[in-house]
Amino acid sequence: MSNSKKLFLEAKKYIPGGVNSPVRSFQSVNGHPFFVKKAKDQYLYDEDNKKYIDYIGSWGAQILGHANRDVVNEISKTIKNGITFGAPCKNEILLAKKITKIYPSIDKVRMVNSGTEATMSAIRLARGYTKKNKILKFDGCYHGHGDSFLIKAGSGSSTFSVPNSHGVTTSIAKDTISVPFNDIEKVKQAIKRNKLACIIIEPIAGNMNFIRSNINFLKQLRMLCNENKIVLIFDEVMTGFRVALGGAQSIYKIKPDLTTLGKVLGGGLPIGAFGGKSKIMNHISPLGEVYQAGTLSGNPITMAAGLKTLSLISEKTYFKKLTKITKYLTDGINIIARENKVNMSADSEGGMFGIFFTNQKIKDYNSISRSNIKKFIGFFNYMLANGIYFAPSAYEAGFVSSRHLKKDIDTTLKVIQKWVKNN
Ligand SMILES: *Cc1c(COP(=O)(O)O)cnc(C)c1O
Repeated sequence: MSNSKKLFLEAKKYIPGGVNSPVRSFQSVNGHPFFVKKAKDQYLYDEDNKKYIDYIGSWGAQILGHANRDVVNEISKTIKNGITFGAPCKNEILLAKKITKIYPSIDKVRMVNSGTEATMSAIRLARGYTKKNKILKFDGCYHGHGDSFLIKAGSGSSTFSVPNSHGVTTSIAKDTISVPFNDIEKVKQAIKRNKLACIIIEPIAGNMNFIRSNINFLKQLRMLCNENKIVLIFDEVMTGFRVALGGAQSIYKIKPDLTTLGKVLGGGLPIGAFGGKSKIMNHISPLGEVYQAGTLSGNPITMAAGLKTLSLISEKTYFKKLTKITKYLTDGINIIARENKVNMSADSEGGMFGIFFTNQKIKDYNSISRSNIKKFIGFFNYMLANGIYFAPSAYEAGFVSSRHLKKDIDTTLKVIQKWVKNN
């Protein structure tokens, strides 16, 4: 038995399902996870000393590759002066200021410890600010595991919502409306029937594989929110500092009222942040009546890791290079698919990508749920066996770091080519 298999059996005795976040269990790819012994740059090494090219990078957070030397040095240097104070420190200002420089839609920002906290707090703020209760989200978008987001559209009517998880009450579910991604008519209907505090969206969805929102759809969302005094929230926990330095909002050139951030922002340490117009942000305590707090929020170590990461990815040609190497992978996949006439395609923006096993247009959750999931599972396991680690679910996006080299992509494409020939 492999060391990873042994560790997984041991882990299952003490940790529910053996993991601290469900997707890691490999349940949706009919396997068991490998246990990571160490990670450096673009590679992971497991407890059986097998090496993998990593296309997840801790779900996008490790944009500089694992254990970036400068970030590690910065953390070591900062930690010598204390780990957490629960009191203000200069690094909080520096990071907040940097975020507002990169995101013109953000005047003020509050730091938290996860993306989940950021989105939870953002909708509370939107509700407090508008004095309205209901929120609208889109089927297949993920905004962390807060009760209000674990909701799916019920059958029949788009205004009838049901919990997606046991433990979420029906009274919470009734305040969340979920409609199909990229469907403006459904949004208009929902606005007519409900008093919405906010609309929250992943402007490029990364939790139902990789799905772009249509530019006109986003423009109309912006207009409808203005006309109906609805707070527009872009959840850029994944896309922020990832599809571009300024996130999806810089690509679409649309300013949301509030933005949620996370992942890359912490340089690999736990973080989340939400920010936006002062007029809205000033409603948070201690200034306003919307309560929000956190013991470890804004701790100097996470701030330092974030600051160093942002300064490195702000270098002039950083995103140009990252975009190019990521596109080299997705273009390569599309060529292989075309030449071999297989229902497979890929798309990317910045350092984020998706691989699809369908010939349908990719526009919403149904495009993915109707794709060939069985094919994906075969693909995933073949790649893993050959030392290439893609996300263990057909509903997750992939990530390339700035440490990935052309030779890593060539190796990857060669294995994909072999898999295609055998299938
Ligand atoms: C990862 C993610 C979250 C949740 O962040 P956590 O840090 O895992 O709580 C929220 N929204 C989006 C878009 C995400 O990708």
